[in-house]
Amino acid sequence: MLSLQPANGLFLLLLTSRISQFPKSHQKAKQVLGKFPKKKSLFGRTLKVANLLFLTISLFYSGCVFQARRPTPTPNKSPTIQKVEQEKETDAGDFLLEYGTSQKPELFEYEKYLRENKTLEKAVDRLNRSLILPQNVLIKIKECGEANSFYDSSQKQVTLCFEMIQYFEELFRQADSSKTTESYTESEESRKKAFDAMKFVFLHEISHALIDVYQLPITGNEEDAADRLSSIICLEKLGEEGVQSILAIADAFKIEAKRKPFKTRNLADEHLMQEQRAFVSLCMIYGSDPNKYSYIAKKYLPADRTQSCLSEYEKILRSWSGLLEKWQKD
Ligand SMILES: [Zn+2]
Repeated sequence: MLSLQPANGLFLLLLTSRISQFPKSHQKAKQVLGKFPKKKSLFGRTLKVANLLFLTISLFYSGCVFQARRPTPTPNKSPTIQKVEQEKETDAGDFLLEYGTSQKPELFEYEKYLRENKTLEKAVDRLNRSLILPQNVLIKIKECGEANSFYDSSQKQVTLCFEMIQYFEELFRQADSSKTTESYTESEESRKKAFDAMKFVFLHEISHALIDVYQLPITGNEEDAADRLSSIICLEKLGEEGVQSILAIADAFKIEAKRKPFKTRNLADEHLMQEQRAFVSLCMIYGSDPNKYSYIAKKYLPADRTQSCLSEYEKILRSWSGLLEKWQKD
């Protein structure tokens, strides 16, 4: 699931070419030292030595946390990867599209738009022309009764809800435009941005489907991996249209984050915090081409994060390219 409140949370591919808390350990060391007796007993000296050692370790640890982790990227460098040829898998399936009719007039508007523009048909066709699938994956868009989107592994089905588009449109319309990533307050703009954000959601769910049907090894957080693959597809295959999708979803995350007080958040949730998801997405845009997207770094990213965006993007791009190589059609 994409996890966008109130509930959780087009196109491919292929990849043939491409918040901070002072470490408590330091403070804790000071507090512990203050508790020891000041008299110079052997016991006391022993404790002081132990504390000094602890403090030294703590400071060393803090130093590791604060030191610059990666070199500043060369300004004119762009991400590149080396393609490794792999034997292709057998194509035994397709992405299939199915519409569920919406009953509510306000939702029918979205269905009508998608049907008339054949947005999903084009996306599915592009997916099928690009990817080898071991089995069919159904993409169903329908009225769900809630704003959601998800992938069901047991059914091999991606479900997109019309309510999710409606949710995005209302979110952008209600937001204070001066505090968001882009300024959209007019209804037409809100609707356009809602479809842009939904495009990212679509790719996020497709990413879950690919991880499942290809049985891809994901050693980290799958939700984060799906977000990052969605961003890579947007950036590598959809150009400016893809950038607009990432900016729209980053904006949605930021608006949601402002609406939901931190103490009400579910820290056990498998998704990253909305703020983190926004920063990761924006870092991906900047890392894909630091020169072209320097304005993203200046406007939205802390300076210390921008230093790692290029190498971060290269690693993610290289990893996904390697994982998907044998599933790509020539
Ligand atoms: Zn998800």
